[in-house]
Amino acid sequence: PERVLSGVQPTGSLHLGNYLGAIRQWVDFQNEDQFNDDGEVVPVENFFCVVDLHAITMPHDPKDLQESTLSSAALYLAAGIDPTKSKIFVQSHVPAHSELAWLLNCITPMGWLERMIQFKEKAKKQGESVGVGLFSYPILMAADIMLYQSTKVPVGEDQRQHLELTRDIVRRFNDLFCKGNPYKKRCKAAGVPSRPVFVEPDAIILKEGARVMSLTDGSSKMSKSDPSDASRINVLDDPKTIRDKIKRCKTDAIPGIEWDNPDRPEATNLLNIYSAVQPTKRTKEEILKEVGEMTWGEFKPVIADAIVNHLTPIQDRYYEVRNDPDALNEILKQGADAANEVAERTLLNTKVAMGFNIPP
Ligand code: ATP
Ligand code: MG
Repeated sequence: PERVLSGVQPTGSLHLGNYLGAIRQWVDFQNEDQFNDDGEVVPVENFFCVVDLHAITMPHDPKDLQESTLSSAALYLAAGIDPTKSKIFVQSHVPAHSELAWLLNCITPMGWLERMIQFKEKAKKQGESVGVGLFSYPILMAADIMLYQSTKVPVGEDQRQHLELTRDIVRRFNDLFCKGNPYKKRCKAAGVPSRPVFVEPDAIILKEGARVMSLTDGSSKMSKSDPSDASRINVLDDPKTIRDKIKRCKTDAIPGIEWDNPDRPEATNLLNIYSAVQPTKRTKEEILKEVGEMTWGEFKPVIADAIVNHLTPIQDRYYEVRNDPDALNEILKQGADAANEVAERTLLNTKVAMGFNIPP
């Protein structure tokens, strides 16, 4: 079977990039049949996690973390994640994430992490006080993925490098600990199957929506951690805020709206967003026929309306879910129970492979 795992950090409000690059793909995974190379339908288990342990790798305010965590989970549901088909849980409710991360910390070379672009970018903003957790963040992410023997990880383009690292860690672990007779003996003694403990996951990255750019700078990605709220459309922004942000977003002085002109990243970004929020799929040609000749002043209300129309039903569902905390907590509890069961099994296997004493 395929196992799908992904998550978003509860570091602030979720934005269009998180939604178009990640969460919308999760919904597709959940709702569409997946096929193997022979064209047969394969069973899929989906795990979607609110990665709160990742959220503390940058300075955070304890009074916000809870609300962000619950609100992120509510947004998963509002966007269409169905708890009868997918497990939704909070990362810190499954202790195995932290524990496996430590074990993997000890086998991952520093040099591999020093190459990570996200660390370099986020560390720049923090100077001397940058935490060790930000540096080893990709290892925690590898642990998240590996605990569920995940085969598919639907993420935005910015996570490609972290997925490559995860694959490297998987190979390293299996090479170091999952070969030969001593390994087989340890497994037999502990009553666990002797096979490579981990599988190499594939990153699933969309062609469209994989990289939604900032509204104030078409060359950097839309991010929760950008200090300027005007740089992003939050999924929960009200219509007036969305219209204002679009009205004030960065444009250029070139007439017409066009796609893929390297000198016009803002035009490409807004067209990508416009295309992604259409109620039914339209080709680039169809869209350009509609808006290609417009001025910015004409195009902006059109795109703002399209975004508002797309987000309104999600927002309505969000407020319904968020206003029923008992139901939400119950969904998260069931998700965590299911996640713990799989994660603990993998962790046990990992410890056996590494030679730890397993209490009888
Ligand atoms: P932060 O700035 O705190 O890192 P973020 O906006 O990058 O926040 P994450 O929680 O790090 O959000 O990422 C969650 C998911 O959203 C990941 O799969 C990531 O690839 C995806 N994602 C984040 N930003 C974008 C974007 N601008 N376009 C497309 N996908 C994105
Ligand atoms: Mg990020």
